[in-house]
Amino acid sequence: RMVREFVAHQEGRPTPAASAARSPRKPFSGKLAVVTGAGSGIGRATALAFAEQGADLALCDLDLDAVERTAELSRLLGANARSWKVDVSDGPAVDAFAAEVAAERGVPDIVVNNAGIGHSGTFLETTEQEWQRVLDVNLWGVIHGCRAFGTLMAERGEGGHIVNLASAAAYLPSKMLTAYATSKAAVLMLSDCLRAEMSGFGIGVSAICPGIVNTNITKTTTFSGLDNAQQAAKQKRVSGLYARRGFPPEKVAEEILRAVTQDRAVVPVTFESKAARLISRFAPGL
Ligand code: NAD
Repeated sequence: RMVREFVAHQEGRPTPAASAARSPRKPFSGKLAVVTGAGSGIGRATALAFAEQGADLALCDLDLDAVERTAELSRLLGANARSWKVDVSDGPAVDAFAAEVAAERGVPDIVVNNAGIGHSGTFLETTEQEWQRVLDVNLWGVIHGCRAFGTLMAERGEGGHIVNLASAAAYLPSKMLTAYATSKAAVLMLSDCLRAEMSGFGIGVSAICPGIVNTNITKTTTFSGLDNAQQAAKQKRVSGLYARRGFPPEKVAEEILRAVTQDRAVVPVTFESKAARLISRFAPGL
């Protein structure tokens, strides 16, 4: 190091020590973060927030083009970022993703199980197929991520943090969100149980419960009992409402980073009861 300092000084270049002093280490420098569903919305904002704070990234999504765009932006922010196409509802695919990440980059320090889809419908009109898909992605997707990466983190024995995206809907009974709210309430309990188990390995687990956030989730939201044309019209109407009333995904990303830093168990990102009130008022009228 002394030789490098001396040579740099002789050549009139900033010495490594001077450079280090100018760019102080960022809070997540040297950390590797995995974010699922990073092609859009909260996942994308979270990936970019981690990149800004110095983390490297392993990102995945069903939509490879979208997640590659997030990876590109993250690289512009200085992160070493790579993207994968993964369906989180597919257990072996998530295991393969985790194995590739570990082989290429090492065991991640942070995993954000964010990928999820929306659904709206009463219990009686929700079909078994709709229940299946919502639970496969929103609940099994999180289970797969926790199991694949949690095992690697526990074996490594150097701690870490897992963040799961639940929802304010997990707390709010609503006749139109039965399947979605059930999947998110399960994610909440899964996170709590896992938090108790993982503390023995120095691994924190947080559940994030946002209210309405202005993202593309309405595009993946299915509405029970509607034909294709009605679905499209409903999606358009609801996405207008999300755009007008939703919180910016960047705010949720901030809370996710804070949950990791402060090791918080459950983080309602409903900004007081405003979003909670909005959800209960808005959901029955969907
Ligand atoms: P979004 O649709 O903007 O982003 C979700 C991303 O996940 C998309 O890029 C999508 O392609 C991806 N994805 C969907 N299914 C997948 C699968 N099977 N495998 C891999 N990737 C998949 O939505 P968002 O609002 O950013 O949602 C992120 C998370 O936040 C979800 O779990 C959602 O339930 C939760 N959430 C959202 C809101 C909201 O109001 N937007 C509120 C509370 C909780």
